[in-house]
Amino acid sequence: MAEMFYEDDADLAVLAGKKVAVIGYGSQGHAHALNLRDSGVDVVVGLREGSSSKAKAEDQGLAVLPVGEAVAAADVVVILAPDQAQRDLYANEIAPNLKDGATLLFAHGFNIRFGYIEAPEGVDIVMVAPKGPGHTVRREYEAGRGVPVIVAVEQDASGKAWDTALAYAKGVGGLRAGGIKTTFTEETETDLFGEQAVLCGGASQLVQYGFETLTEAGYQPEIAYFEVLHELKLIVDLMIEGGIAKQRWSVSDTAEYGDYVSGPRVIDPSVKENMKAVLADIQNGAFAKRFIDDQDAGGPEFKALREKGETHPIEVTGRDLRKMYAWTQDVDNDYVEGSAG
Ligand code: NDP
Ligand code: MG
Ligand code: MG
Repeated sequence: MAEMFYEDDADLAVLAGKKVAVIGYGSQGHAHALNLRDSGVDVVVGLREGSSSKAKAEDQGLAVLPVGEAVAAADVVVILAPDQAQRDLYANEIAPNLKDGATLLFAHGFNIRFGYIEAPEGVDIVMVAPKGPGHTVRREYEAGRGVPVIVAVEQDASGKAWDTALAYAKGVGGLRAGGIKTTFTEETETDLFGEQAVLCGGASQLVQYGFETLTEAGYQPEIAYFEVLHELKLIVDLMIEGGIAKQRWSVSDTAEYGDYVSGPRVIDPSVKENMKAVLADIQNGAFAKRFIDDQDAGGPEFKALREKGETHPIEVTGRDLRKMYAWTQDVDNDYVEGSAG
């Protein structure tokens, strides 16, 4: 059984008198900064020159400094810029200004696990990774709840790295839901695998193939959209509430029987072999290298793939259909339909 942490296992007083610099004010950055501030922690946001996030952070009542200045004043430096930006950001702005004895805190282990950031021996390296998007992390905190976090210590120079990590996890509201002890290696590899094989990659491809199969067989795209995309949420909600078993209990017997006989035909054992190959590329660093090399070149592959996804017929159908349904309009984030690519 994994080691779990709850609110009583952490002491917010560990952060009293300390300054926390949250670098980046995007999905995770805004949520961490605001939740910590509301938990009574002294927070400053660090942003690069001309950052498009500056006005937003200031509007929300937070002090904003250039990254180097924020780091120089901080006891805890939270790196919440995109993963592909962290190596250069660390080398150019963070490392030269980092106080000896400071804590470096991550929400994902990518740059430490794959060696893009190598921190000096005198600093603590910890991770508090919410298991949900930043906008949910903020929304749940405001509602008095929290999104579960996983917590790790990679380097404990001070001997107090766990105290700091757990206090931070409490400050962002994560321990209201619970924390699970992990390592940078386990978090990084499982997080990448989960999003690639199942959550993002697997689910997106499954939905697209389902939509293509129905529309190519002559069914109306609007009907196909509802059957293979819209209803997915209802099914996943049941899985979250009570596992796959509750989902099967709730659907009709027809649907449950179809699940048993057709699920393994669609997702056959070759899919598991493919998953193992994806995992191997994560573990041996091939995925990380491909991603970072592409980013270093300005992201040509990334941009082409994003564009291709955006123009899939299911997106066209969905954009038109969702306009009819006020209840799917997201008021909770900055996403603009059709903005990607
Ligand atoms: P975002 O893409 O939302 O971060 C955007 C922020 O980073 C903006 O404030 C942006 O400011 C700033 N930024 C972008 N590029 C740079 C740069 N080169 N130098 C300085 N600042 C920069 O990131 P996420 O919140 O998605 O991810 C942050 C971390 O959290 C990652 O490690 C990610 O893996 C992890 N994580 C993310 C989750 C999520 O929900 N998205 C879930 C769990 C973990 P500007 O206006 O200047 O561009
Ligand atoms: Mg991830
Ligand atoms: Mg149905």
